[in-house]
Order: sequence, then structure tokens, then C-alpha cells
Amino acid sequence: MPGGVSSPVRAFSPHPVYLTRGQGAYVWDADGHRYVDLCLAYGPLILGHAHPEVLDAVQERIRRGWIFGAPVEEEIRLARQVSRHHPSAEMVRFVSTGSEAVVSLLRLARAYTGRPSVVKMDGGYHGSVDALMVHPSRGTGVRPSSPGAAPPRGARTYVVPFNDADRLEGILEAHDDIGLVLLEPVLGNIGTILPEPGYLRRVRQVCSRYGVLLAFDEVITSYRLGIGGAERRFGVRPDLLVLGKVIGGGFPLAAYAGRRDILSLVSPQGPVYQAGTFSGHPASLTAGLATLRVLEREGLGGAEKQTHELARGLAEEARRRNIPLQVPHIGTLLSLFIASDPVRDAAAARRSDLGAVRALLRSCLQQGVYVPQSPQETLFLSLVHTDADITRVRECVATALGQQGKQRS
Ligand code: PMP
Repeated sequence: MPGGVSSPVRAFSPHPVYLTRGQGAYVWDADGHRYVDLCLAYGPLILGHAHPEVLDAVQERIRRGWIFGAPVEEEIRLARQVSRHHPSAEMVRFVSTGSEAVVSLLRLARAYTGRPSVVKMDGGYHGSVDALMVHPSRGTGVRPSSPGAAPPRGARTYVVPFNDADRLEGILEAHDDIGLVLLEPVLGNIGTILPEPGYLRRVRQVCSRYGVLLAFDEVITSYRLGIGGAERRFGVRPDLLVLGKVIGGGFPLAAYAGRRDILSLVSPQGPVYQAGTFSGHPASLTAGLATLRVLEREGLGGAEKQTHELARGLAEEARRRNIPLQVPHIGTLLSLFIASDPVRDAAAARRSDLGAVRALLRSCLQQGVYVPQSPQETLFLSLVHTDADITRVRECVATALGQQGKQRS
């Protein structure tokens, strides 16, 4: 296995921690050490590990068989729920991963607009393999096997800074090949970076003015900012939506969704080909339904308040030691930046003291808090973390900050 792992973020030096068990807010490693988990599989486990309602539902489902290659009732129920929660999701297509959803959405947007190029934000993370969707053809060698698929000749990906609607407008004004603006409404893959007030609304206005589709990649934010994700929280309606992580309750499931006139182009209703053997896997749909049932009943529970308290506590610990720690947070997401200027875009995140945050995360791991080891990942809370867990995390970070304070002085 390249790097010894199945996904690069799991590798760290000298070797990753191998986890054997998870229950509630805790994981155990192969040596039997227990950790408070603030990684939660990079986001999906908003109810923590092995939540009894999810476990019961999945066990009951798979006893009757786990995959059929035929429609199942659960996908109708989950599609209805997603549509009810997300105003922009007039139609929904389930796939297995966020990357697959993004690839499919790009193809769809190209087919709908007839324009090949896309704008993304600096620091945004999505993914693509469109260049492989080709048929042999006599003249040019290959031709796309579906409208909107590659090779969109001359297709470009323009990158603009987050929180800068003027730059976005400038790009849309200057180029008429752009069909789609794709963004995480809260950046979550370069730390957590919040949209400034009015930014998303201006993005919406600018996209509408230039006739460009707007897609929110809510793989991280949906349900973690509450039901309805960022689009409800900020009151901005995109044309298209990418969902993942929480909607599968910790099993592989993602979706792309959006306006009926656009989604109607997807096969078999329309000509834009997209398919998957594992799409809408019954176990994943069931885990997702059970997870959303709990969230409908309990909202984010105390998790949002805990996230806020933790962020406030960590900032206080840092202030006491004269360390310029910023803890941006929203919903059940938070991250750490050590920087003097406010981190409002990816460039500022890159200028921040990544080495110091990396050392802090490493210290947390050694003290029994399981956190991603990259300083650019978001940390996740759940509905099952207790106040005592949060206090413990605060104490561990305080110890780590103390170690840094000593090194600085
Ligand atoms: N979009 C965003 C915003 C993500 O955070 C991720 C994964 N972290 C993806 C897309 C890709 O999802 P997956 O890993 O399920 O392919």
C-alpha cells in the first residue's frame, strides 16, 4: 500500500496509530489506549461510534440482504428527507463518495450550460476524473461518451480566493467559458474558514448575474451546521449541492442534488450518463436514515454549545500564554490557527504557523485525544461527547500550549 495507507491523510510519521474499536466519543488503539475522538472518521460520525440506533437499524437491514442492484424503499425515504432539509435539493442522485458526487456534478454542469470551465476557491477540496470518460473516435482519436464529459477542450479551472466576491466577479466578467462556481460554503479542508457576513449572498448574486451555476459542496457542512446545512444557516440557495459524510451515518454514501431542470438531465431521465454498482447502498441508506432521525429529534443537542465552549476555552488558554491562537468554529466544526492576522482565506492559512499546530496536535494524540495530524484538517465534535470529554480536551491542549510556551521563551 503506498505509504502504508488507503488514503493519504491517515499516514503520519513515524507510523499512524492503528485503531481497533470505537464506542461513543472514544476510540481504542491496538495497544489498548483509549482516546477522546475529535476526528470521527473525518466527519461522518456525528453521533459518535457504534450509535445503538444506527447499529440496530443496519443490523436489521442487512439480515434481509445488503445489496440488490435494484431500487429499495430506503432511498426514496432518504431522498425525501434530504429534499425536505435542503431547500435546493429538488432532485437527488445518490452515489458512494464525495469525490464521485463532485465528478458527476461537474459533468452535469458542463452538459447543462455547454460551458466547460469551472471556478473553485483557493483551499477548497473536491476532486475529478472526467478526462477518462471518452470513446474511441475516428477523427480526433477520442470523443466524450456522454454530454458534458471530457475532454472538454480548453476547459479550465479558475481559482479565486475565498471571501473575495470582487475577484470572483472579475473572473466571471473576463471569461465566458465558465459554467459553474463550486465552493465549500465554509472552507473545511485548510482548517475551518468561515464566510464573512454577506459573502455567500454576493457570490449568489454574481453567479446569477453572469448566468453561471452555483454549487455548494456541503460534504462537511451539511448537518454539521444543523439541518439544512450551510444553505439554511446562511440563507443562500445554490443551484446544485454536494452531500456526503453525515448522510451515510458512517457508511459510504454521498449525493449530488439540486434544481429539477438540471438534475432531470441525469440518466436515465436525461442523456448525462452516471452510474454505480454501489450507489445508494442499502446499509448506507439505512445508517443515514437512522442518523437523520436522531438529528431531527435532537438537533445538534449540546454539541454546538460544546464546540463554542471548547473554542472559547482554547483561545483563553492560549491568551494566558501569549500564543496567538485562533479557533474558528461553527456548528460542530472547529480548527486551530496560530497567526497574528485573522485567517480569512487559504493564503493566510498557509502563512500561519503550521509547524506549531502540528506539534500541538501531536501532543494531543500522545495525551489521549485522537485528532487528525495535519494542521489543515477540521476537528469534529459529536452529540455524544460529554462536558467532561471537552474539559479533558481543553486540558490536553493547555498542556501542549504550555510545552510550546516553554519552547518559545
Ligand atoms: N468535498 C469536501 C468538502 C470534502 O471535505 C471531501 C472529503 N473530505 C470531499 C469532497 C470528498 O469526499 P470523499 O472523501 O467521500 O470522496
